[in-house]
Amino acid sequence: MTTEMHGNGELWENLLRLSEEMEDKARDAFRRIDGIAERNQWKVIEAFKKHQVSDFHFAGSTGYGYNDRGREILDLVYADVFGAEAALVRPHFASGTHTISCALFGVLRPGDELLYVTGKPYDTLHKVIGKPGDGKGSLRDWGVVYNEVPLLEDGGIDWQGIEASIGERTKVIGVQRSRGYDWRASFTVAEIGEIVKRVKAIKSDVIVFVDNCYGEFTELLEPTEVGVDLMAGSLIKNPGGGLAETGGYIAGTRDAVEAASYRLTAPGIGGEVGAMLGTLRSMYQGLFLAPHLVGQAVKGSVFAAALFERLGFESKPKWHEPRTDLIQAVRFGQADHLIAFVQGIQAAAAVDAHVVPEPWDMPGYENPVIMAAGTFIQGGSLELSADAPIREPYIAYMQGGLTYAHAKYGVLTALRRLVESGLIVIKPYIP
Ligand SMILES: *Cc1c(COP(=O)(O)O)cnc(C)c1O
Repeated sequence: MTTEMHGNGELWENLLRLSEEMEDKARDAFRRIDGIAERNQWKVIEAFKKHQVSDFHFAGSTGYGYNDRGREILDLVYADVFGAEAALVRPHFASGTHTISCALFGVLRPGDELLYVTGKPYDTLHKVIGKPGDGKGSLRDWGVVYNEVPLLEDGGIDWQGIEASIGERTKVIGVQRSRGYDWRASFTVAEIGEIVKRVKAIKSDVIVFVDNCYGEFTELLEPTEVGVDLMAGSLIKNPGGGLAETGGYIAGTRDAVEAASYRLTAPGIGGEVGAMLGTLRSMYQGLFLAPHLVGQAVKGSVFAAALFERLGFESKPKWHEPRTDLIQAVRFGQADHLIAFVQGIQAAAAVDAHVVPEPWDMPGYENPVIMAAGTFIQGGSLELSADAPIREPYIAYMQGGLTYAHAKYGVLTALRRLVESGLIVIKPYIP
């Protein structure tokens, strides 16, 4: 790499040496990640083969979209990949939040209780849950009862709290797999399986719902393969494989997915209509690529964790810990460090690298937020991106990278920005 390209050539050389050290250390972790990607790749291909996916499935329908074979087969492929009875994969889901909202509204009725057992859910779901009488048509406005069991001090599940909270009216148990933008652990599929076992032992007919955002293909199994009844996720995250231009998916039992489908379109219509327009090829091809791309992104997260831990910052998860989602949190402790990091991630993008992100007051957030999102798909976060609320202890949440090389370049560019701003010092490499 030339000095011209990277400013201070000597610094860049030092960073590359440091990278080599991290990559040597992470070799076994990388091999494990490759192994998971490989198995998931095979699983996806097997499902394509089973349903005889052909070129004409990619054509897409217009109008009502009756008998759209591409749509019907895509649902079956997703169901098989996730080990579920049924799935609903649509570009008509506007976001992850919309998808989760359809799933929850689909199965909950006035008087039923939704009980989240992994603490407070993701920010954007607070308005979906809402307040009684808020007039917004939220779950609580419709008479659904909401409660949550906070996580224990150490981030673990409060089993006693759950047991004490499940009652007559408890209809849906809510689980969020990923840490989201919280400094807590994410829940592995094995842990989710344990939740299913324990809550069903208390009340056998509860529906266990999992917000699976950021989790798909990071492990060998998905939550629906360990007894979860209903799960949802976004196609501009993992399973869209960087190609799906919009959309979401719901997977689970036949009854639960059908109930959710009536919420997306209309009762009696469900998943039988819905023109796919030109979205099918990118959804199929994206799903095909997703296991590999998720592996690339997870390696990027491990690299970031190893590097920043080496420099004395705390990360979550730690570089060697098992992964069940894409998100890597790094605690910077100081606002200017955090801002330089996020700006460095943006500066490494192929799209909009010339834009310098600044903290801004986003609607619905209590603190200013800074985001790096130089992406091909707007807000696509299987692509390299970073977000951070400007508040103590100044944690950056980064995720994605369609290629490991991009994620690595992003992390090194961010680190270089920190060094060049005089915020941290890297010792010169001594052979
Ligand atoms: C991204 C995300 C959502 C919401 O998805 P949007 O597409 O941002 O609406 C919900 N839950 C979790 C854990 C997420 O990561």
